[in-house]
Amino acid sequence: MSAGIHSLDSLTAGDLVFTIAPPTDRTTLEITVDRDALLILRAPTCASRERVERFIESKRPWVYRKLAEKDALVAPPIRKQFVDGEGFAYLGRNYRLKIDDMVDGVRLDRGRFLMSTATAAEGDAAMRRWYVRSGQAWLQRRVEPWAKRMGAAGVDVAVRDLGYRWGSTKGDTHINIHWATLQLAPSLIDYVIVHELAHLRELNHTDRYWAEVARGMPDYERRRNELTTAGVKIWTCRD
Ligand SMILES: [Zn+2]
Repeated sequence: MSAGIHSLDSLTAGDLVFTIAPPTDRTTLEITVDRDALLILRAPTCASRERVERFIESKRPWVYRKLAEKDALVAPPIRKQFVDGEGFAYLGRNYRLKIDDMVDGVRLDRGRFLMSTATAAEGDAAMRRWYVRSGQAWLQRRVEPWAKRMGAAGVDVAVRDLGYRWGSTKGDTHINIHWATLQLAPSLIDYVIVHELAHLRELNHTDRYWAEVARGMPDYERRRNELTTAGVKIWTCRD
């Protein structure tokens, strides 16, 4: 006999982590996705791990869809190796890494990423800093015309690690974009920008909110779907 599911606090299934809710007298299994994209699993007291895992597999497409609705960035753990030939994406294009001990820090030069052996030793952090720095300058210019179009004046943008979110907002004029977003094609980054600009007006995903998105970007649905597909292939520096 297998151990009941409630002996665990959480359960990992591939790239998804579920928090196990305390047992109730229910007889069915249920998954809910809360406001912050946290996955919660409710199960009967006697539910076995096998039954729960089968249930999760059957619900997986639904879970991804829900996470996409909550702006969640769900990427499988991809581990990068900081050696010659490793690939890194920037603005939708893929570049190979070349170790070059003449280079200080990280450089994108003539279609290749360059870094020294010493930098490669702390490659994750160095590369993340590169995305933040390069992305900051690029996004600042990119946000402006969209902000103008959506009637949001004086918007500033910061690139940072936002955990499981593509973007977030602060106050009336500030948006944050996850550095990992910079790996996407510009047309998809534009969707993330517009998505956040619309949140400056309307916090929740109401009909009014989506109308605001559509006003700025009439083909947003196509891009949102593409983002869901592209999103699972990007590197988030999480293990
Ligand atoms: Zn949103």
